Amino acid sequence: RAKAQGKACHEVFDTDMHTHVVALMQMENDLRKAIDHQDFELYYQPIVALATGKIMGFEALVRWQHPEQGIISPAKFVPIAEETGLIIPLGQWVLRESCRQLKEWQDAFPHDPPLTVSVNLSGRQFSQQSLIGQIRQTLSETGLNAHSLKLEITESAIMENTESAMDMLLQLKAMGIQLSVDDFGTGYSSLGYLYRFPMDLLKIDQSFISRVDVDGEKLELVRTIITLAWNLGMDVVAEGVETTKQLAQLKALKCEYAQGFLFSKPVPKQEAAKLIAQPNPFQQLAQVLPTTGR
Ligand code: C2E
Ligand code: MG
Ligand code: MG
Ligand code: MG
Repeated sequence: RAKAQGKACHEVFDTDMHTHVVALMQMENDLRKAIDHQDFELYYQPIVALATGKIMGFEALVRWQHPEQGIISPAKFVPIAEETGLIIPLGQWVLRESCRQLKEWQDAFPHDPPLTVSVNLSGRQFSQQSLIGQIRQTLSETGLNAHSLKLEITESAIMENTESAMDMLLQLKAMGIQLSVDDFGTGYSSLGYLYRFPMDLLKIDQSFISRVDVDGEKLELVRTIITLAWNLGMDVVAEGVETTKQLAQLKALKCEYAQGFLFSKPVPKQEAAKLIAQPNPFQQLAQVLPTTGR
């Protein structure tokens, strides 16, 4: 029986698994080289204050400029970087480059309040005690104020590190860094930790927002999440806003901030700078009227 199973496994391995493993190893190999050559670029997506249309700040989103395959999305390589530990050097580069870029923009285009940058942290980065020292050093080297840095952490990354999470979050908080819960609603959805952990901002996942204009149940869920966030002293960001109808619903719910293709896709730094240079690039969208009724 064991033999039969072994043979079956071997066959499966020969066909699907083999190709899969080879592709993964190839990608890991390429990823290592890319880190040495710094073949990455950050794109920036504005996060907009819905009351005014002004840009509060940007989320930094990494892109891989693969020599043969062109631009590769982080959804494809971040999980592999995470699995292989390469997320540590990559994450360090992302942090440094986004802090450096933001400081440059803050100096060139003073905003009131100053623009912020949101950086995604993976579970693996979050589990490293050395993260605190790295961030401290990056802030001091780039001259960026800690209050201008927001770190985005998913529910799952917090729950994978329950032992150290609280301590880590408190240390970051004590430095003046702001903490966001990313993709809220997709992970463990255990509300318990929200009460205990010192989070400043709650980002409602796109899967809720994308149906908020057509699905009454989703709308009620979003309303509940917003109330919950407020009761816990957090502001809310709606992720993945694509239509003015969704925007109108979010305005009716008094959601503070939004991010999505309706405003702008993530863009290279030159294009982000053009948005920053305008006094109020989303003024017209800010005038969209809240949905009444329902
Ligand atoms: P995320 O942190 O939830 O980032 C938001 C994702 O939603 C981005 O995808 C963004 O392009 C996309 N998005 C924003 N607005 C819309 C919209 O209106 N419609 C649609 N369909 N999509 C929208 P992206 O850039 O492909 O990044 C995917 C994920 O990869 C991120 O999700 C984040 O989890 C991860 N990631 C990206 N950059 C980094 C990084 O530097 N470090 C780490 N650890 N993870 C990263
Ligand atoms: Mg994020
Ligand atoms: Mg997200
Ligand atoms: Mg996401």
